Amino acid sequence: MTSTDAPPTVLAVPLQHRFADELPELALPWQAEAAPEPRLLVLTEDLATELGLDPEELRSDAGLGLLTGTALPPTAQPVAQGYAGHQFGGYSPLLGDGRALLLGELVDTDARLRDLHLKGSGRTPFSRGADGRAAVGPMLREHVISEAMHALGIPTTRALAVVATGRRVQRETVLPGALLARVASSHLRVGSFQYARALAHQAGDLALLRRLADHAIARHHPEAAATGSPYVALLDGVIAVQARLVASWMHVGFVHGVMNTDNMTISGETIDYGPCAFLDAHDPAAVFSSIDHGGRYAFGNQPAVATWNLARLAEAMLPLLDEDEEGAVSVAQESLGRFRDLYADAWTEGMRAKLGLPGGLDRAVLTPLLAELEALMSSGRVDHTSFFRSLARLVRGDAEPARGVVLDLPAFDAWSERWLATGPDADAMDRANPVYVPRNHLVEEALTAATDGDLTAYQRLLEAVRAPYDERPGLERYALPAPADFGAYTTYCGT
Ligand code: AMP
Ligand code: MG
Repeated sequence: MTSTDAPPTVLAVPLQHRFADELPELALPWQAEAAPEPRLLVLTEDLATELGLDPEELRSDAGLGLLTGTALPPTAQPVAQGYAGHQFGGYSPLLGDGRALLLGELVDTDARLRDLHLKGSGRTPFSRGADGRAAVGPMLREHVISEAMHALGIPTTRALAVVATGRRVQRETVLPGALLARVASSHLRVGSFQYARALAHQAGDLALLRRLADHAIARHHPEAAATGSPYVALLDGVIAVQARLVASWMHVGFVHGVMNTDNMTISGETIDYGPCAFLDAHDPAAVFSSIDHGGRYAFGNQPAVATWNLARLAEAMLPLLDEDEEGAVSVAQESLGRFRDLYADAWTEGMRAKLGLPGGLDRAVLTPLLAELEALMSSGRVDHTSFFRSLARLVRGDAEPARGVVLDLPAFDAWSERWLATGPDADAMDRANPVYVPRNHLVEEALTAATDGDLTAYQRLLEAVRAPYDERPGLERYALPAPADFGAYTTYCGT
């Protein structure tokens, strides 16, 4: 027997290194740390197939080598990405992947370029004293919530797999370690532009910033290249996708929790699921993150924060927008000024669908209906998700589920009479309003069991949220609000 008979230990995955080649200043060559006892906890098979990867191969030892970054094809050039960012409004000039690596890009079966990235792969030069690791609970949390977002039709990074490393990770207690393999249309962030701008400033030339913008245009906003001002068109493109993204969060009651500029993408995908949560009680002031004392990232503040972050992007791009600084500022202001209407249009359109109303409905009828509904939902602190389903039941003649939870019944009855007069379609509502979202109490229950080694509840939750609009027997408790004794919910970052 010759050595060529030995089983392959590395998957021959055609990983590209376009980011590393085109933007070496933002790409630090780095390796993942060893995983002593890798064990696959969950694999997103449809995503694997989409990437042209074989799920069975990913389950093999060689597959685990790829998913932990410890056995890569010889042509791969894994890098830690550099970026800066405003965190809670304060500027950090150097953040970067402190516990993550970009393994490279793959061309998927639809010919789209996708990043394959690891989170929890060990320390890097960007770790700033932290351990570079991640725990099973938070990585499964990102997996289930991003899968739910994807199933809801909301642009998001996706989780290909979670692999337990066999390491213990020190947090408040000792926890089992894990690593998330994440797929994104790219990992370009607002913070990537802030970092490139600072480097360009130091170098005294704009080449890097321009190269980053060209890379972003090619990957995300190719239509910008054909315009007279590609960089202005890029900024406009990012503003447009972010307006739509944040509107879609508001529709489903999603609170990102840490909308720092390093956690906002150029692609318009939701990224970095840390202290995020879905609303139970509808409340614009809802905050779940343990460190968000001022409510900067509260549910109702998200559109305003998105605008603020986009202004930081425009600032970073300023020298690309116009040669004259004053001219550039006015171009940026004009672009940023469009966010408000783009957001309002996207939000209104989504709410129209949630209320089952026809496409051409007069704004003069729709706008006050939506404003009053918002007030009724907030004052009654109604359960965000189930309330919209109960409105569809009202259309079908069963008013009790909705009437039973609002506080101001006369106001609600007056509102619903006007709404019903516009002819809502209950079946269309059921296609726009999810029954199942990853509710906080269910996520916690599933993660606690998973951390103790039992993935049954996790798999069941995943099954529920992967088909969020189809009500199914046996999943009744997944449709219910948190029990009263669940109490105030707190989530944590960087775990
Ligand atoms: P986040 O806001 O959680 O997306 O992360 C903010 C920054 O902290 C990023 O630069 C991360 O790479 C870094 N970071 C978070 N957790 C860790 C960790 N355990 N070890 C090293 N860096 C970390
Ligand atoms: Mg982040």
